[in-house]
Amino acid sequence: MSEEAQQLPPRQLFVGGAWRDGNAGMRRDVVDPATGGILTTVVEADATDVDVAVRNAREAFDDGPWPRMPARDRARILHRAADLIRERADELVALESHDVGKPVSLCRAVDVETAAQQYEYCAALAQGLDGATRSTPIPSFAYTMRLPVGVVGAITPFNFPLILSSTKIAAALAAGNVVVHKPADDTPLSALFMAELLKDAGVPDGVLNVVTGSGQVVGEALLRHPGVDKIAFTGSTAIGRHAASVAGEHLKPVTMELGGNAAHIVFDDADLDVAIGAVIKAFVFNSGQFCMAGPRLLVARPLHDTVLGILEHAVPTVPIGNPRDPATVIGPMAGERQLKKVEEYIELARKEGGRIVCGGERLDLDGGFYYRPTVIADLPADSRVIAEEVFGPVLTVQPFDDEDEAVALANSTPYGLAAGLQTRDVTRAHRVAARLDAGIVWVNDWAMLDPAVPFGGVKDSGFGREYGPESLEAYTRVKSVVVSLPPVTQEQS
Ligand code: NAP
Repeated sequence: MSEEAQQLPPRQLFVGGAWRDGNAGMRRDVVDPATGGILTTVVEADATDVDVAVRNAREAFDDGPWPRMPARDRARILHRAADLIRERADELVALESHDVGKPVSLCRAVDVETAAQQYEYCAALAQGLDGATRSTPIPSFAYTMRLPVGVVGAITPFNFPLILSSTKIAAALAAGNVVVHKPADDTPLSALFMAELLKDAGVPDGVLNVVTGSGQVVGEALLRHPGVDKIAFTGSTAIGRHAASVAGEHLKPVTMELGGNAAHIVFDDADLDVAIGAVIKAFVFNSGQFCMAGPRLLVARPLHDTVLGILEHAVPTVPIGNPRDPATVIGPMAGERQLKKVEEYIELARKEGGRIVCGGERLDLDGGFYYRPTVIADLPADSRVIAEEVFGPVLTVQPFDDEDEAVALANSTPYGLAAGLQTRDVTRAHRVAARLDAGIVWVNDWAMLDPAVPFGGVKDSGFGREYGPESLEAYTRVKSVVVSLPPVTQEQS
């Protein structure tokens, strides 16, 4: 695809290693958020399509080569996938940028590179996925085997389509599973691209299937299908709660990567240059549409007005605009639905008595879904804008008087995905990090992630971990084998 927005050929479902139309013949537009124009159409699948995909996956798992292949051979294929991602980076960057509105520079450096690294990391882990021997007091030889769980239903949200699908698929495949993937309705294109890329890398037919369509139909059918052995879900807390309860009814194991609303604490001894850079990155990256964003800024009271003054001038200078411009840092929101939600929250902030320090309005550009990065001060402590997940380029700022109050404010929402703090005091850094209710805590930066570092939430942000060795464990089950070793008889000796 060229740098210009242009129509792509209509896309089909990827099932059993081949492209096919949907059962009901329904299609859905995919919109470029930078222009509001239609990029292409995808299949709006139904439960019959899900059933066909699960049957293909089941067959690939029960009778196909993938789960039986030596881990070293699977790893070789996953390494090839990482190579192909880098070779085809230009195509992937253009596709993801048009589909999601991501600025091309960030998309190349973050989304595409992280996806490649994830395949490499999981390829390495696959080869170390061993069982263990266990000593017992009974005369026996006891050992464990680590086996794949089977058919994984992978459901992902709209904001980081390439990274989030790669995170699930690389880990699931590395452990020998097969996958039926349902990407978000709004941003399904990179998942379809990756299906073809993985086939080119050598992933056998039926091992990865991609079914596009709505959560209420396709997602729901995956949750309930008896042929699906595990659900790997990333998305909002509300849908995650529902998905976990349906999976629970069917006794399917689940991992839940859910919403966030992280606090970012600036202590009075912080290096302000470092802190301001991290604060801005934490709320504008991906137009604020990231689960681990830091939209709640807590500032030591003596610094509160100074920090607000710096933000008022610095935030409007962050380049916002056409995501195809390499200098752009903030692109459009991923869709009109997301833009309207942010507008509603800004309206609410005004009603709650908040003071808009900068932003607070759309950017009218090329018909795209742009919202200016917005800083809000003076909200009441019980503000809904502070408590809820806005999921846009919006930062609320609150003062605190001491460490206890900072920790209490940080832990005051039901979420617990990420948190961060800015301080030059190393003792305080460790002490506060231990007290924050979050799956990951960053000190003096924000959103430092690596495939080796486990990531996931506590409280309403979910359970289970992606990245790190923990991610692969979640796609395995342990079998124990105990071989009786009766005492050696005299005749045998
Ligand atoms: P969402 O509305 O919860 O959707 C997530 C996925 O679930 C989509 O594929 C959606 O399909 C599907 N879905 C909807 N209803 C379903 C149902 N009844 N059964 C099964 N699946 C269903 O989330 P979103 O708005 O796309 O994404 C934003 C949210 O994701 C935020 O809360 C964000 O914090 C969270 N997130 C979390 C992480 C993490 O790692 N913790 C990472 C990224 C995002 P449709 O698209 O067709 O509706």
